[in-house]
Amino acid sequence: MKFRAIVLGAGFGGLEITSLLSEALGDRIDLKLIDHNDSFYFGFSKLDVMFGHQAAGAVKIPYKRIVKPGVTFCKENIISIDPSGKKVTTEKTTYEADVLVVALGADYDLKATPGLAESNEYYSFSGAEKLRDILPQFTKGNAIVGVCGAPFKCPPAPSEGALMLHDYLVNRGIRNECSISLVIPFGLPIPPSPDSSKALLKAFEERDIRFIPQRKVSAVDNSRKTVTLDDGTELPCDLFLGIPKHVAPDVVLQSGLAENGWIPVDRKNLQTKFAGVYAVGDVTSVGTPKAGVFAEGAAKIAAASIIAAFHGKENNDPYTGAGSCYIEFGKGTVARVDVDFFSGPKPFGIHQEASEALVADKKLFGSSRVARWFGE
Ligand SMILES: Cc1cc2nc3c(=O)[nH]c(=O)nc-3n(C[C@H](O)[C@H](O)[C@H](O)COP(=O)(O)OP(=O)(O)OC[C@H]3O[C@@H](n4cnc5c(N)ncnc54)[C@H](O)[C@@H]3O)c2cc1C
Repeated sequence: MKFRAIVLGAGFGGLEITSLLSEALGDRIDLKLIDHNDSFYFGFSKLDVMFGHQAAGAVKIPYKRIVKPGVTFCKENIISIDPSGKKVTTEKTTYEADVLVVALGADYDLKATPGLAESNEYYSFSGAEKLRDILPQFTKGNAIVGVCGAPFKCPPAPSEGALMLHDYLVNRGIRNECSISLVIPFGLPIPPSPDSSKALLKAFEERDIRFIPQRKVSAVDNSRKTVTLDDGTELPCDLFLGIPKHVAPDVVLQSGLAENGWIPVDRKNLQTKFAGVYAVGDVTSVGTPKAGVFAEGAAKIAAASIIAAFHGKENNDPYTGAGSCYIEFGKGTVARVDVDFFSGPKPFGIHQEASEALVADKKLFGSSRVARWFGE
């Protein structure tokens, strides 16, 4: 009988581990990759869709393109997970496996912030598409990019949203009629990298973007056109670009895998408290930010552990929590921060100045993943 694996979720983490297991074990594995969507898109493509730089259809990569030894993609909705029996139930059937890899990402709890469901957010694909249609109607007033809860995906993305909004309004010739504020719950835009934070703060100052640190948005009042911060401050707001509170998917919360909202894992091998059940990416509380590069890094270590165990060995490479994040700085430039969370005594990041060269670097980052995961 073949070695049976189920990968739950075909996002950054799920696609990476699927590729690595298929590459290493080929036809000796029977791997079911399950996702309720029919296509993958990078998180950063939501910014492109929102500001009309790319059409929604152009950034989606259909899962039917995956042709890999040992892999079957199942477009199904996972409705329950039994980690002790290593069983996964979808609306169609129940699968059993030798190994489960939970890579179901993070969902958004819009209801946690009163008024947000009737306002706007750009963290979901549909939210970004809705904003693409709303932005052209905004001609003057106060715009706020605001974080409603932590942890949230891709810590630079709120700063990117504010900088890209600035460019968008400049290009429409209405920047002087509008104010932009950025509300985030940290003291600095990117806490592990003082240099990236310094560069972002300088960019905000040059562009007259008001930076409001250490605060979250706790309510949005659409009729009074205000947002309320968690210290009770009210700000006038004609256009809200929200970052919703994140939560683990319901099916994970009901499975017994999560503690305090997320799945704890052993950093050595990304295994959960259930033997043979691994978890990678945003759904975990591993200690890195919720970002694709970290989901990918964790998937590499989980894959190495599963492959080693298949051969009766142990993987001794630790998970360093290292990865490079690109930061859209606007004006056709991109910066990069190379962060390492676990190798040193505390997390540290090395900043690479925004440049046009890094735009090409980011493009290659995306296209190389598509090539590896989708075989092109
Ligand atoms: C605006 C924005 C910009 C970003 N920019 C970057 C960036 O520049 N660099 C970066 O590294 N990261 C970036 N990110 C973050 C990145 O997108 C996520 O951190 C990353 O996708 C997490 O990978 P994951 O595998 O943990 O989860 P995901 O990629 O979210 O994958 C989870 C998968 O599980 C599926 N799923 C969930 N529930 C079910 C269910 N019940 N049944 C079946 N399938 C299910 C989902 O459909 C999804 O495909 C950005 C995010 C946003 C929102």
